[in-house]
Amino acid sequence: MDAIATRLLEPDEPPVFRVEREQGASPFFLTCDHGGRRLPRRLGDLGLPASELERHIAWDIGASAVTSLLAAALDAFAIHQTYSRLAIDCNRDPSVETSIVTVSELTEIPGNRGLSAEARRMRAAEIFEPYHRRITAELETRKAGERPTVLIAMHSFTPVFKGVTRPWHVGVLYNRDPRFAHALKALLEAEGDLVVGDNEPYAISDLSDYTIPVHGERRGLPHVEIEIRQDLIAETAGQRAWADRLARLLPEARRRFPAAAA
Ligand SMILES: [Zn+2]
Repeated sequence: MDAIATRLLEPDEPPVFRVEREQGASPFFLTCDHGGRRLPRRLGDLGLPASELERHIAWDIGASAVTSLLAAALDAFAIHQTYSRLAIDCNRDPSVETSIVTVSELTEIPGNRGLSAEARRMRAAEIFEPYHRRITAELETRKAGERPTVLIAMHSFTPVFKGVTRPWHVGVLYNRDPRFAHALKALLEAEGDLVVGDNEPYAISDLSDYTIPVHGERRGLPHVEIEIRQDLIAETAGQRAWADRLARLLPEARRRFPAAAA
């Protein structure tokens, strides 16, 4: 062997995901694919200044904190990815070119340019795959135990994207099965103080997404991806308010969901 790295992460680097409420009794199952902004030491800063690595291009600001508070309020299993989506996007199939972005919003990512197949493979094998294996294992355990599961994929979005201001406070996202998303959307709208996006600011697709298509749709689990605007959850008070709101509305959405037994 020569000196070429065969591993991306060194043994002393933190795990690539964090699980909370492993024994949580709730039917809700929370994922936070873009919760972290750590970079593997070997990747350095990807050629970016610190200011870029703190921005939404690196992670979903506030999403992990809301997910933790929501998991506590519901007694729900939650899993958080701890590494930055700039290393690899854990909500995108690794075979898709943009799973490792070379441009995010308007920022070029020098450290992601011209990667070898081996460099791409290591990022998928050491960051993406262990995270999704853990989700799969947990969902299999729940299935074997005939435990009801509703998959909630937690995300946050930037208030201004490429210079355009976004009007929504929150969005419910789905692709083939809108049922749970629409049950939640009706409740969010009934709150009276929210502009609710219906597949806004993004819509889910097999190419742009992974968690909902693979773990939700293919398993036939009720599901929704929730996108909260980042300025609303950048601070603790907003994070608490959103966790409280969702802890109140999600069980109600499940009661209203047509296949409530699921
Ligand atoms: Zn996200």
